[in-house]
Amino acid sequence: MSVIDAAAARAGAILTVDLDAVRANYRLLAERGRAATCAAVLKADAYGLGMAQVAAALVREGCRNFFVAHLEEGIRLRSLVPADRTVYVMHGAMPGTARDCIEYDLVPVLNDPGQVAEWRALARELGRPLPAVLQVDTGMSRMGLAPLDLARLRQDPAWLDGIELRLVMSHLACADDASHPFNEQQRQRFDGVRALFPGVPASLANSSGVFLGSAYHFDLLRPGCALYGIHPQPGHANPLAQAVSLAARVVQLRTVAAGDIVGYGARYMAPGERRIATIAIGYADGWLRALSGRSQAFVDGVAAPFAGTVSMDSITLDVSGIPEQRVAPGNTVDLLCAQQTVDDVAGQAGTIGYEVLTRLGSRFHRRYLGAAADAT
Ligand SMILES: *Cc1c(COP(=O)(O)O)cnc(C)c1O
Repeated sequence: MSVIDAAAARAGAILTVDLDAVRANYRLLAERGRAATCAAVLKADAYGLGMAQVAAALVREGCRNFFVAHLEEGIRLRSLVPADRTVYVMHGAMPGTARDCIEYDLVPVLNDPGQVAEWRALARELGRPLPAVLQVDTGMSRMGLAPLDLARLRQDPAWLDGIELRLVMSHLACADDASHPFNEQQRQRFDGVRALFPGVPASLANSSGVFLGSAYHFDLLRPGCALYGIHPQPGHANPLAQAVSLAARVVQLRTVAAGDIVGYGARYMAPGERRIATIAIGYADGWLRALSGRSQAFVDGVAAPFAGTVSMDSITLDVSGIPEQRVAPGNTVDLLCAQQTVDDVAGQAGTIGYEVLTRLGSRFHRRYLGAAADAT
């Protein structure tokens, strides 16, 4: 057995990331975006899938613009993509750390007057223009210059001196609901702001924004979740390919009698004789406790419901409906598969697919499939 096979055999759960699916999703988004350039958002370790592997796959797919949230993520990503690709840091630099953006060749997103001032001062000190993105707030009140900030800054005609504006961006609050009137409001506000920066490319659309139509595309698309298969338009058929699957191993089997209880809190009482399988995954691996009594695993496409409370390291399943020879210690059951997507699990837990993906645990054995996997 090779080292890798041995690690897989020991692992309680195996996460498989299909990099060809990520690449196909990127192509689909780029195609939908038509005239706009398609960037990729790789924050939070590429939504839990693995920044290094996803970056390599998207570089091969021709992606040239990458966004992360934190400066530290940018520093890491910089070492993973060729020098001619751009890495944008959406939070910009914390006070006193702007120099790191220069050192690591990162383009900061400037979100408030303080970040603008610091970037300008650094440009003056270095005696050369420094590239940056300007984020404006169009109503989400989270990141970016508020309208009043922008108006005040613009009173100084030299406010952008030394700043080479690469992009003006904003972020949509409700894009996953195409019928939400706030989308159009934000789009109009963004249009107004963008007109103040003639010749500077503009970016508004996240994944869901790409599907709101070309009026939302502007020059650069910033999809994240859709690259990873999360549904950008709940209520419609998902055009994207699932990029992750997850299987967990059976640790132990037992038969319980009517009236026996299973798991913490004695929340499950067997209504009759039941076969219970304990699998090696729990909330410490991101399989949320909120899934207790609400989710299921699949064995050859047949559902085995969760029985009892999800534990830290294990989950108990009712496998009475599964052929006995199919569930033995060491065998795997599927948690993310054709029958159950990330969005399905999120719905069962009362959350969104983003949270399920970004909670995916560090104890999994990870396998990467697809053409880009060899490069990593
Ligand atoms: C996370 C993020 C994105 C990507 O959003 P998705 O909904 O995952 O496509 C784009 N822009 C900003 C500012 C973000 O924070």
